[in-house]
Amino acid sequence: MKVLVINSGSSSLKYQLIDMETEGVIAKGLCERIGIEGSKLTHKAKGKELVKEQAMPTHNEAVALVLGALTDGEYGVISSMDEIDAVGHRVVASGETFKKTTLVTPEAMVALKEIEDMAPLHNPAAAIGVNACLAAMPDKPMAMVFDTGFHFTMPEHAYMYAIDYDHYEKYKIRRYGYHGTSHKFVSQEAAKYLGKKPEELKVITCHLGNGSSISAVNGGKCVDTSMGFTPLAGVPMGTRSGDIDFGAAEYVAKKEGWDIATTLTYLNKKCGMAGLSGVSSDFRDLIKAADEGNHRAQLALDVFNYNCKKYVGAYAAAMNGVDCIVFTAGVGENTSSVRQAICENMQYLGLEIDLEKNLEKNNGAIRDITGKNSKVKVLIIPTNEELVIARETVELL
Ligand code: ADP
Repeated sequence: MKVLVINSGSSSLKYQLIDMETEGVIAKGLCERIGIEGSKLTHKAKGKELVKEQAMPTHNEAVALVLGALTDGEYGVISSMDEIDAVGHRVVASGETFKKTTLVTPEAMVALKEIEDMAPLHNPAAAIGVNACLAAMPDKPMAMVFDTGFHFTMPEHAYMYAIDYDHYEKYKIRRYGYHGTSHKFVSQEAAKYLGKKPEELKVITCHLGNGSSISAVNGGKCVDTSMGFTPLAGVPMGTRSGDIDFGAAEYVAKKEGWDIATTLTYLNKKCGMAGLSGVSSDFRDLIKAADEGNHRAQLALDVFNYNCKKYVGAYAAAMNGVDCIVFTAGVGENTSSVRQAICENMQYLGLEIDLEKNLEKNNGAIRDITGKNSKVKVLIIPTNEELVIARETVELL
């Protein structure tokens, strides 16, 4: 069985064709700059790379190019679209409308449109991607897999904000959490690696990338997560502030004469590591600048590490302990100094990492950096969100 996974961003479309017997990637690629000048497809298959610079005014042209590449005489991997058995689409926001992976139907697409406002940059792009695939492959079963899906097991006391309850009922204002496919994948991989059932473990998963979130997974179920109603909340990120007192944001807005939309753009795009350091949102640049003595770059890293550490402590408290901490995504998998800073002075949890193993280069495999006397396992696990989307699509069908 072959599943095509589609991840539509506002101006991009990433895809993977996955063989579900082996769970191996047959082909993958990216369409960039959709709707802007200079659009480009990069397609990788059979150890070769095809780059096509061609206008893609909308996601429809992008999907057509992707299907063309997949069936291409030289770079293709299937002889016709008939060989694709199903399509899994990543969708960011679900509201409370979709609490699990959902089959694409006309009714589901109407319901998706109704919650568009919850992720105005992401959900409309996903809907366009779904419709473009439906136009090209009307007979294929398709699923929508939500970033929020894994977090619906959170108890009410973890997902509710202390606001007027009427507004929860009226507008569904609550914590949803994001990066769910990643938290699910790495927590399950951790159990597998440790030779345990997910039900037997308390895991804290740290997905640290350009966007970052931390989750508490107790017995295989998410019980809390750091992102909130939107992906702006939680630990500081590349350009997002993370948790901030709303009063502080309102004060800046008043002084600068900003409306709400401008203030949100500021919190999403101009804050975080980039805003604090004035150097970059990229951890490689920050570490280089900090090593050269840049105080603000070091400060940004310190603020990030400290906030991650606080979430780990909070989630150990929420679960009455922790058996395993997992690091994943760009920063979690590659940045040893971040892992070290988060894990140091955690003797109260019985947690200790092996400093030498922590420094070893990323080899794309699971790495165990648990210290000799540590009661808590510490693992680095490469995430695979596309595989979760493909698995969920197959499970649904
Ligand atoms: P996104 O949230 O966009 O998926 P990633 O998970 O790719 O982000 O993480 C991007 C971050 O990972 C950047 O800040 C980058 O500096 C950091 N990083 C550190 N080392 C590496 C590396 N060797 N390769 C890729 N990213 C790295």
